[in-house]
Amino acid sequence: MINGKAAISLWDSSAEETDPYEPLEGDAATRLAIVGGGFTGLSTALHAAERGIDCLVLEAEQIGYGGSGRNVGLVNAGLWLPPQDVRARLGEARGAALIKLLGDAPGYVQSLIERHQIRCEVTRTGTIHAAHSPKGFEDLARRAEEWQRLDAPVDLLSRERAAEMIGSGSFHGGLLDHRAGTINPMGYARGLARAASGAGARIATGTRVRKLRRDGDKWVVETERGAVTAEAVVLGTNAYSDDLWPGLRQTFTMIHFFQLATTPLGDRAKTILAGGQGLWDTGPIMFSLRRDAFGRLIIGSMGSLVGGMQGLSRRWAARTLKRLFPDLGEVAFEHSWHGQIAMTPDHLPRIHRLADGLYTPIGYNGRGITPGTIFGKAMAELMSGGKEENLPLPLSEPKRVGSAPVMSRLYQVAFTANQILRSL
Ligand SMILES: Cc1cc2nc3c(=O)[nH]c(=O)nc-3n(C[C@H](O)[C@H](O)[C@H](O)COP(=O)(O)OP(=O)(O)OC[C@H]3O[C@@H](n4cnc5c(N)ncnc54)[C@H](O)[C@@H]3O)c2cc1C
Repeated sequence: MINGKAAISLWDSSAEETDPYEPLEGDAATRLAIVGGGFTGLSTALHAAERGIDCLVLEAEQIGYGGSGRNVGLVNAGLWLPPQDVRARLGEARGAALIKLLGDAPGYVQSLIERHQIRCEVTRTGTIHAAHSPKGFEDLARRAEEWQRLDAPVDLLSRERAAEMIGSGSFHGGLLDHRAGTINPMGYARGLARAASGAGARIATGTRVRKLRRDGDKWVVETERGAVTAEAVVLGTNAYSDDLWPGLRQTFTMIHFFQLATTPLGDRAKTILAGGQGLWDTGPIMFSLRRDAFGRLIIGSMGSLVGGMQGLSRRWAARTLKRLFPDLGEVAFEHSWHGQIAMTPDHLPRIHRLADGLYTPIGYNGRGITPGTIFGKAMAELMSGGKEENLPLPLSEPKRVGSAPVMSRLYQVAFTANQILRSL
């Protein structure tokens, strides 16, 4: 429990950084109103405040309440798609520029952590994309070849090398990306908030925005605690978007991803990811594994948490750890949670201009630590006189995905079936 509220994730309990913010009290005026206190909103606030732009973050719940405080904490380079596919979809020039920007983004996140002394258990020893099958290894080889052509420091790991690094012979090889690392994501979100606040941004938590309306050349951002007048608005609500901007949450398919954390395991788990890398696999129903700074193992997969600490998801986690690490023995779990991910039809994120002076970066497809930070910075650059054509992505109109609600439900059924099958 934190301030009388149940923790939303392990990270909520274990982050060293604090969340001292209060709800908005009465009306306010600002140049830039930012809705959502996750990586996107907070990075926008930090970079805007550093440029001398008066800004106010309005967060419905607490800092990091969305994906930012619930994720795996893999600070990865690039996007979900391999670089060549990003270029094929965005065109050679835009695609290559985005790949370069996001390829360098783990370094940028690490530099922010360093500059603002953010206490978030940062590691810089890379992440491993592990092959769940021979076909998965072929896909990794294709990714490795392209990244190496772009001079990125990645190594294709043989089956034996992957087994050594992961501590399990269950994988068919892997791709080690030396640019990447891990963080306590809630620590990073709260640290960004602290840095933004230190640079002059105002932050209000517990303040849900109910309505956005135009009044002359200004926006009026209506909350239950008061109205905020602003020249421009950035929505950083992503997969946690509510009905604030009609149709926005119908622009992506929403899926869940759940995780469980063991108690600290000490030496018992010292051969598992001994180098401190975080891991995710190539399986169609992705699986993730990492350690935290206290020696917990944190295991997750696509789908909702079913049955809490005693139910199906716990059985899935125990069974999966046993299958991967037969020598580990019984483990106890002390945290379990899930979060929402916004998947776009082509797996590319978007930056939408919803109306004059109203923007939203959205749809990160489960890869948001680096894009959220970089797109937030880009929003701040735009607000300080930058050009729309210099944004990392071409601006787009929001398009409803008609099949999204049905797809979300189908995925949910498939993911739960996977948990059942794999916990037998
Ligand atoms: C379980 C899980 C695992 C993941 N693993 C990784 C990973 O390892 N690496 C990685 O890079 N990415 C990962 N991601 C993706 C990443 O977490 C997200 O892309 C990222 O957090 C999105 O940040 P954001 O700031 O755009 O949105 P969010 O962090 O989701 O923040 C949106 C915020 O908006 C607030 N909000 C919504 N509506 C309103 C309103 N009307 N008024 C006020 N506030 C509002 C919400 O309360 C929320 O706090 C994962 C996501 C999940 C869920």
